[in-house]
Amino acid sequence: LPHQVADTKSALAKAGVKYCLPFYVDVHGVPKTKSVPLSHFGRMMSGSELFTGAALDGLGQGPQDDELALHPDPSHVVQLPWRPEVALIPGELRYHGEPWPMCSRTILQQQMKRAADMGLVFNLGIECEVYIVRRDPAALNGIAPNHAADDMARAAYDLSSTLLNYEFLDEVVGHMNAMGWDVYSFDHEDANGQFEFDFAYADAVTMADRFVIWRLMMKEIARKYGWEATMMPKPYADRTGSGAHFNMSLADIESGRNVSGDAADPRGCGLSKRAYQFIAGVKRHAPAIVATTCPTVNSYKRLIKTGSMTGYTWAPIFVSYGGNNRTHMLRVPMLSQASKSTSGARWECRAVDTSLNPYLAAAMMLAAGLDGIEQDLDPGDPIPVNMYELDDAALDTLGVTLLPRTLLESIEAFERDPLGRAVMGDALFASYVELKKKEWWDYHNQVSAWEVETYLTKF
Ligand code: GLU
Ligand code: MG
Ligand code: MG
Repeated sequence: LPHQVADTKSALAKAGVKYCLPFYVDVHGVPKTKSVPLSHFGRMMSGSELFTGAALDGLGQGPQDDELALHPDPSHVVQLPWRPEVALIPGELRYHGEPWPMCSRTILQQQMKRAADMGLVFNLGIECEVYIVRRDPAALNGIAPNHAADDMARAAYDLSSTLLNYEFLDEVVGHMNAMGWDVYSFDHEDANGQFEFDFAYADAVTMADRFVIWRLMMKEIARKYGWEATMMPKPYADRTGSGAHFNMSLADIESGRNVSGDAADPRGCGLSKRAYQFIAGVKRHAPAIVATTCPTVNSYKRLIKTGSMTGYTWAPIFVSYGGNNRTHMLRVPMLSQASKSTSGARWECRAVDTSLNPYLAAAMMLAAGLDGIEQDLDPGDPIPVNMYELDDAALDTLGVTLLPRTLLESIEAFERDPLGRAVMGDALFASYVELKKKEWWDYHNQVSAWEVETYLTKF
């Protein structure tokens, strides 16, 4: 065994690991694995685990093709704190020794390489929102919140709901910290039974790995309590959805220094020129990006301004940005009040939800931002108003356009924009369009309870 592989193997043995689960994700971001006893660690690390690509969505193989080999990333081994006998290792697919162009993690690595060639690291922090529910046939959609807050309409930051769920929250946060994620806060979110976890940012590949592990962990631990952690972005029509806000910044590849800020920024957001160029690229490609950041039929039920019993949904509906303002697609959180230091400078995309494939979504976001830098795009001035209150005339004057309102609209925008093909390559691009259109039409071709109720006896 190569030296490092042998070292890792003996460290894992000492830590009590019995099985390694190398994993990759399918096109939907769902992790796939084969479990390998630690005794076979060396072969596994050199790509012994083979997968029939034709068994999964979006991997571009037929039943006649040779298998795809999974090559685990030795720098990303994660022992599961809640199952210490198991170590997860994210990896990438290869075919006959060559990188497989339809592998999501490879696609993100390619954009990271493009950034690296420009001297940049793309850092990402994902705000993790989630609904904890229990099945209840009597409840709307058959799912009820895991608990009843004292004031269900004003559940945001609710302290008693936090204490009521203390054991569960302490357990999942403990696991996240044991994996080295450095949670800095968690709370009861805007809606009853909804929680948010915030932890340190990392390079986008590491963060995408963590997001996949986070979803897995939340579901596993919630089940122990008899609950479900749902990553469906909008489980209830009358409550806010679950966002997965992308907090983005660029760092210098040599020094690691954040190069996104400028305390003397004349536009007042505290951002550097490069950050504005990035934002401009994201604005330009926004409708195509959301086909990956909001990738399900249900995603678009979140991107509305009202319809929440708590008032606003806090989700974006326009392609816009505007300083520290939560009604835009892109928000620029204020620099630290106290220090005015630019080390925490970043911008946030709110048109992202928990049903995403984080590798593909981050790759699209980064590619759009790098286009903005390469083409020296300008995003215009921030719009410092409550976007939810603008009428059509005001929107016309401002020249603001809408985000796609359905999966069909976004996938059609994705199809028209050359960015998707450039990021995913011809084969995954075609497969993504086909799968997502099918998802839309499968949904649309149903006749819903609402339709029967509204039209059955009406005419
Ligand atoms: N839950 C909101 C969403 O759908 C976000 C709330 C917040 O600003 O954290 O994006
Ligand atoms: Mg939140
Ligand atoms: Mg946020």
